Amino acid sequence: MSSPAALPRGNAPDALSVLNSVFGLPAFRGAQEEIVRHVTDGGNCLVLMPTGGGKSLCYQLPSLLREGCGIVVSPLIALMRDQVAGLLEAGVNAAVLNSTLSFDEASEVERRLLAGDLDLLYVAPERLLTPRCLSLLGQANIALFAIDEAHCVSQWGHDFRPEYIGLSVIAERFPDVPRIALTATADEMTRKEIVTRLGLTGAPSFISSFDRPNIRYEIVEKQNAPAQLKAFIVERHAGDAGIVYCLSRAKVEDTAEALTSAGIPALPYHAGLDASVRARNQDRFINEDGIVIVATIAFGMGIDKPDVRFVAHLDLPKSIEAYYQETGRAGRDGKPSSAWMAYGLTDIVQQRRMIDESTGSDAFKRVSIGKLDALVALAETAGCRRSRLLGYFGEAVTGTNCGNCDNCLSPPQLRDGKISAQKLLSCAYRTGQRFGAMHLIDVLVGRMTEKVTQFGHDKLSVFGIGGELNEKQWRAVIRQLVAMGHLRADSEAFNALKLTESARGVLRGETEIMLREAAPGTRIRSSRAKSRRGDLAPRTEARPAHAPLQAALRAWRSEIARQRNVPAYVVLHDSTLDGIAAVRPATLNELRNIPGIGDKKLEHYGDKLLTVVRAADA
Ligand code: ADP
Ligand code: ZN
Repeated sequence: MSSPAALPRGNAPDALSVLNSVFGLPAFRGAQEEIVRHVTDGGNCLVLMPTGGGKSLCYQLPSLLREGCGIVVSPLIALMRDQVAGLLEAGVNAAVLNSTLSFDEASEVERRLLAGDLDLLYVAPERLLTPRCLSLLGQANIALFAIDEAHCVSQWGHDFRPEYIGLSVIAERFPDVPRIALTATADEMTRKEIVTRLGLTGAPSFISSFDRPNIRYEIVEKQNAPAQLKAFIVERHAGDAGIVYCLSRAKVEDTAEALTSAGIPALPYHAGLDASVRARNQDRFINEDGIVIVATIAFGMGIDKPDVRFVAHLDLPKSIEAYYQETGRAGRDGKPSSAWMAYGLTDIVQQRRMIDESTGSDAFKRVSIGKLDALVALAETAGCRRSRLLGYFGEAVTGTNCGNCDNCLSPPQLRDGKISAQKLLSCAYRTGQRFGAMHLIDVLVGRMTEKVTQFGHDKLSVFGIGGELNEKQWRAVIRQLVAMGHLRADSEAFNALKLTESARGVLRGETEIMLREAAPGTRIRSSRAKSRRGDLAPRTEARPAHAPLQAALRAWRSEIARQRNVPAYVVLHDSTLDGIAAVRPATLNELRNIPGIGDKKLEHYGDKLLTVVRAADA
């Protein structure tokens, strides 16, 4: 058997002691323990956990506990590299087998596998499917197969990878080796496809809640988006790493430039950039502290950076699925993080136009519009955003107040908007349903513009009947009527606002309309502020961290990361540094008790860390 270097020899180790000695963690999280036990005992299963939920340990631990080497199939080369670097740091014998290796390097990995020298081997799917690799695996002692990002087998999903279809060969060739499929994609159809294609019929599914309690959701009304973004970063996330999503390449460039000139280190990323520039910007984002990457949705898949503190959207994503996936890249380490979006009427109109103008079938367009509507409803809701989000994925939510979204922290004022809605709809109707928001507002507030004169709209009964609201408030009314489906922007007629079937009920006074007041005065200050959910903050944050020590620890970590040529979080996670800064350990024993410090890390870095602590205390 392979005797993992990281494990004490002799007695068979149990899961908890390996969790502690190798990974430096005191306890399992959620379903991890059950999954680890099931797979270690030789069972197959499907694991559904949100990003950051802790999927890796579900196959890493059984690989260490079972005889032989765990084979991990992963489609993402960068992710494999970082995982292996992290495992090596923890003293686990891990390696990769993919196209980045030379022939000699690959041969050496193969030799070690056959010699029983490896605990974990990460393999790219196309590599695994080669006859050479299958025959190699046939000769090796294999602990388990883990198929990561298992949703890639789904032809209907967004990340379909043809090589994944071929992975059914694993169940055929190695029926007695346990298989564990893992994904963060929740929907029912994908789940069924994974089960069929990977031969998991009858095996249990371990489904965790998709809630990301450490992420604070916030959706603001778009006014001056670049200025709002700057304020958001400066006030709430100064010095933090974050991702800003924009729809177009031009906007990516402009936004990155604007942030840079405001003193925020920002880099652009989109498909139009030279591949080398893209790679360099991505590397800097991953390896350096506090870089903001401004990107199109081309960025993110396979980014495993655990300490992304915020994800900001300057444009509306296409669906709740996309919003959840993109915002989910924040806070994988479980620490407080923000999902912030600025959105306005033009966003809805723009997305609608993109759907209308796409070449998809009518059925496709109908589905797309339904998905967009659901997202707009999330953006407009006056209720808890988290409940909406989880409800969309079919997850029942206990309680109605999550305490960690903008609407729960600062409930919006609602008012009876029946009269305003009627005025607005009448105005659109009387002007012939040929005009956009701007003109309708001019007519309502009684502004004599050229267009008003030209069309004689000052003679209409609706002219000047809306003086009680200002322009911004009328915009909010229009946006909400569009979101509710009473008004529709016609992309074939220069986005003229037209009444829908349901508008009649509003005009006749049969439909109740509650509107949120435009831009509540209260601002959410800091996502670091203590949340009402007590379980959010890791225990190590109970004491305030010592700031100079924190800075010194980061500087030390950067230096080590540079020397070893690995990302900083591979050396030690932020939460571990924060733990050290809070506890200020004086002895190796105290240091060992901080989550994230396992035996190997203690051996490698223990003395140096204590020196850093002593120097900061001096
Ligand atoms: P996923 O693959 O599900 O996105 P990871 O396996 O990368 O998530 O884990 C996310 C983060 O959670 C990592 O920083 C990891 O160290 C941490 N983590 C996982 N399990 C535990 C645990 N039992 N206790 C503390 N931290 C954990
Ligand atoms: Zn909430």
